[in-house]
Amino acid sequence: MSTPQPLDGRVAIVTGASRGIGAATARALHRAGAAVVLAARDTEALTALAAEIDAAGGRALAVPTDVTDPTAVQHLVATTVDRFGRLDAAVNNAAGGGHPPTPLADVDITAFDSALAVNLRGVFLAMKYEIPAMLAGGGGAIVNMSSTAGLQAVGGLAGYVSSKFGLIGLTRTAALDYADAGIRVNALAPGPIHTEQLEAAGEQARQAAAQAMPMRRIGLPDEVAAAVVWLCSDESSFITGATLPIDGGKLAGAPPFRRPATAAQPRTNPTAT
Ligand code: NAP
Repeated sequence: MSTPQPLDGRVAIVTGASRGIGAATARALHRAGAAVVLAARDTEALTALAAEIDAAGGRALAVPTDVTDPTAVQHLVATTVDRFGRLDAAVNNAAGGGHPPTPLADVDITAFDSALAVNLRGVFLAMKYEIPAMLAGGGGAIVNMSSTAGLQAVGGLAGYVSSKFGLIGLTRTAALDYADAGIRVNALAPGPIHTEQLEAAGEQARQAAAQAMPMRRIGLPDEVAAAVVWLCSDESSFITGATLPIDGGKLAGAPPFRRPATAAQPRTNPTAT
């Protein structure tokens, strides 16, 4: 007989599951026993991941979805319930749109709107349809993917920062609306995590990012996925409306001053009085 897992028999949706943190999360939810419904726009990537999970003995379904489209999001939830009979957990992780680092007055209006459309309105739409499906099954757990940039602003990123700050407010509101109805809603705030964007930035940029962190390293998608699994499980049953940083200590403050190993040490004169 196989070892019982924390999410045995549960059904979870993951948006932004085609790569990065979302794909790692889908694999982790599967390993924790859940059936997973994979949503994003890249049909090929979703289908490949669903096949991988099926081949590993799991239950997965790819539902190509643009989270900015209410009809598509409604269809995602309806398809989940049709196929697996219920919805217990949802990870609203998709992010996109936005603009490159730009001083606010120069930010393109359409680019600003696009960050909010995916990262904030997209999560609103997801919860709008996920919550009734969860209520029908007696409750559930939702995890929304914010960022350390949702708690501490980053200059030049007006669209992304606004969407991620907004997402924490949206998470708290949803948590309060359904706290007495068996649905827990929490947010995660990852720091720099090694996904495609940091991969594309190159080794030097990753080293620089790592050195700015108290732990002197960037995080891994699996380290975020592990927190998602915990927040979706009964192990976190009294936690709702919370935002958990997964950031190697970044939001705790500035790391202690450490001299680079190669730097000359100040000389002391033992005879000085
Ligand atoms: P990523 O590699 O850029 O992946 C983003 C995911 O969102 C992809 O699966 C993408 O799939 C999907 N997506 C984008 N627009 C979409 C849309 N309109 N409809 C549906 N899906 C859409 O991101 P990541 O690095 O894994 O990050 C995942 C989450 O963690 C995001 O919310 C991000 O803001 C947050 N986060 C990441 C970091 C980090 O360092 N990586 C740090 C803090 C927070 P398609 O292109 O196939 O649609």
